[in-house]
Amino acid sequence: MIRMESSFSSSQIRASFPANRSCRKKDFGRKFPGFFNVKAASKLSKQRRPQNIEGEFYVDERCIDCDTCRWMAPVTQVFKRIDEQAAVYKQPLHGEERRKALQALLSCPTSSIHTESPPYDIQEVQRTFPIPIDGKKLPGVYYCGYHSEKSFGATSYLIVHPEGNIMVDSPRYTEHLAKRIEMLGGARYMFLTHRDDVADHAKWSRRLRCDRILHSLEVQIDTADVEMKLDGDGPWTVGPDFEIICTPGHTEGSSCLFYKPMKTLFTGDHIAARSDKSFSIFEMYNCDSVITQLDNVQKLLELDFLWILPGHGRRAEFKDTNEKNSALIHFLADKGHF
Ligand SMILES: [Zn+2]
Repeated sequence: MIRMESSFSSSQIRASFPANRSCRKKDFGRKFPGFFNVKAASKLSKQRRPQNIEGEFYVDERCIDCDTCRWMAPVTQVFKRIDEQAAVYKQPLHGEERRKALQALLSCPTSSIHTESPPYDIQEVQRTFPIPIDGKKLPGVYYCGYHSEKSFGATSYLIVHPEGNIMVDSPRYTEHLAKRIEMLGGARYMFLTHRDDVADHAKWSRRLRCDRILHSLEVQIDTADVEMKLDGDGPWTVGPDFEIICTPGHTEGSSCLFYKPMKTLFTGDHIAARSDKSFSIFEMYNCDSVITQLDNVQKLLELDFLWILPGHGRRAEFKDTNEKNSALIHFLADKGHF
């Protein structure tokens, strides 16, 4: 079992909670892949977008341009962004292409990807989750898929670890995924990076009997009963291999999980990458302070990680510390913050 050490406290539930506030903005829209307008999506139809190429797979009008289908299947180019939403650009034919397209279908937060007839191999594809990120370089680190509308389509991960597995942020609850995670040893903890990406945390916690970890500044009515609340500015250790780093700015208590032996940082909405490995902080969706967020991006120069696995945006692997720090310095300089 992983033991929480140092200043971690399972503090009492606060007498009064902050208003149920999140980074959800009324104008979350299709102009910014990675976030979306849930309300707008629900009003739109499940009709096939005319921008899809003819054939079996299609994307409907409810797509919120979260970019998930595109980064899940980047090489196949099955999905492309056309007129500010996703569309099927090339029909997946077989094998790897079809598998990736069906993985995207299952993961789409608004269930906007469809097939004309029920896919004969959907159960086989369900069994591919959670998906290893990189079996050789990051053994035991999985991508959960099954994004949820409730967390603006945030990405969730599973870390399989001999002292207890850790889920990072919450995917949409589905029994298919729960069974697969159970086969990998379940989860001892669910680390929630911040208030926006909690989705179906309560269902997962009950089903897997895992303790949820969330900074107390992120606790709201629906997370009032999380088992472990972090107070102060850390860092907090979870056994010898993990460190929780407090990185406020996007929200007041946003935190990252640092998996030291794998040199991997799970960043939530603190920082993400673009496909060219440059950094991004989703400034227009900041809920606390951009300056504070940039201060805490600067702190990452001292942290020895090579991978970032974000809540939104694309993951990145840097070849060495030099490349990682150069990208950070370039980003900070561009923001006038270095
Ligand atoms: Zn957020």
